[in-house]
Amino acid sequence: MNDPLLAEEEHETRERDGRRRYELDETGFNEVPKKYRRFYRRWRGAADVLAPNEVLCPVCKVVIRSTRDLRPGDKVYCMPCMSRLIVVAGEGGRLEASVAY
Ligand SMILES: [Zn+2]
Repeated sequence: MNDPLLAEEEHETRERDGRRRYELDETGFNEVPKKYRRFYRRWRGAADVLAPNEVLCPVCKVVIRSTRDLRPGDKVYCMPCMSRLIVVAGEGGRLEASVAY
């Protein structure tokens, strides 16, 4: 990563708190209004790997995607099942979501 242009780009994708920002693409998820579809995707099972900006809804097993990387304590909303979730550190440091109420 010695390319100054690449370094600049990396800098611009980080917010003041050091979090990385993500561009979300359409995932084909169609259980919510079109406007919100890019914030969700289907869980592909045990072999699926979650990105740092993704967390699995424990209620409906849909992957919730954020425009920033997620950290424990973050609140996320699962629109498909209308659950309010809080991000927690699970076993092995993996991020999990638990139902807030
Ligand atoms: Zn859900």
